[in-house]
Amino acid sequence: MNHKFLDLIFGGEENSLEQKIFYVSCLTGTLACLQGSFMNFLRFNTEFGFILFFIGICYLIFYLFTKFVDYTKNIHFLVYIITIINFYPIIWILDGGILGTVPYHFPVFIVYLFLSLDGNRKKVAFLSFFIMITFLIFLQYFNPNMFHREQNIHEKILSVYSQILTIFLSLYFLMYIYFQELKSKKESLEKLAKNDPLTRIFNRNHFFEKVEFCLKNTFDKNMYLMMFDIDDFKNLNDKYGHLEGDKVILKVVEIIKNNISEDDFIGRYGGDEFVVFFNNKNDDYIREFCFKIKNSIQSINFFESISMSGGISKYDKNFDMDTFIKIADDKMYEVKRSGKGKVCF
Ligand code: GH3
Ligand code: MG
Repeated sequence: MNHKFLDLIFGGEENSLEQKIFYVSCLTGTLACLQGSFMNFLRFNTEFGFILFFIGICYLIFYLFTKFVDYTKNIHFLVYIITIINFYPIIWILDGGILGTVPYHFPVFIVYLFLSLDGNRKKVAFLSFFIMITFLIFLQYFNPNMFHREQNIHEKILSVYSQILTIFLSLYFLMYIYFQELKSKKESLEKLAKNDPLTRIFNRNHFFEKVEFCLKNTFDKNMYLMMFDIDDFKNLNDKYGHLEGDKVILKVVEIIKNNISEDDFIGRYGGDEFVVFFNNKNDDYIREFCFKIKNSIQSINFFESISMSGGISKYDKNFDMDTFIKIADDKMYEVKRSGKGKVCF
């Protein structure tokens, strides 16, 4: 479910959920009032028609102003308070009070208040809404004539029907926005859970989940695992600072990413240690890969030359995951012990 048009009128990712709900409420307020006004003009009830037209235009102005000039939580709150203490009572009285169509909008309005206001603003809005409704109901109870509205049964049916359509539309927009927001929150949480925040490559857990999946599901088992670690990285950090150290990490990751194929993937094992998984490759390809990245890493433009040590493990059908990793790890430490700067295959 992805509507470009709805994103255009309610705002995409750049707007908060509260803001988008506010736009829905203003636009459906406009729609409900304008169509109510139209129905009243048809019945020559011009006074009420003009009032509804005026209120509808007010909501349109609130929408246009907050969409294109300035949106603040205070304007949002103010519009809801004007609705509660001003617009609702006027329409409620002219529309026949509890026997008219205004109460049909109340449950949706409560959802707007609940989802788009916070803290004290929410409390104040709910309290004033409750007081307003109670006051109007008592008023009607003791002065029913004040709320009398001339309307035959057919007019009543049509007006209920048109308001119900507006409410459907309003709920549809509201749910669209709400579920879009949930979906994008879920996606960003999933990204956070799977990726390393600095380099945006897979974190250790997700990397090995993917490897596990490949080991189980790949028919052709020509798979390799490379583990590598930047040499003397602690010294680089100590000499040039952690921010410069981060730049080296990012550069190294970029080099690896540019040299692996679509079947392969890289993950951060932890600190300055990384792992690369190769799928469907052969020994020559891996040797050439090691040669290429060794040179590229050595030619990184930094205050001093950068090198890394690595080990490669070739998958064998008798291996479990731990053995597959351990072989690469052992080979990497062999290189570290014997002078660094190489990849052991
Ligand atoms: P060796 O050649 O034996 O690998 O020596 P080394 O100094 O690279 O190894 P060691 O494991 O002692 O140091 C790794 C350092 O990496 C320690 C830690 O401060 C640094 N480090 C870990 N994560 C990050 C990071 O995200 N950014 C930066 N700038 N440094 C990091
Ligand atoms: Mg290191």
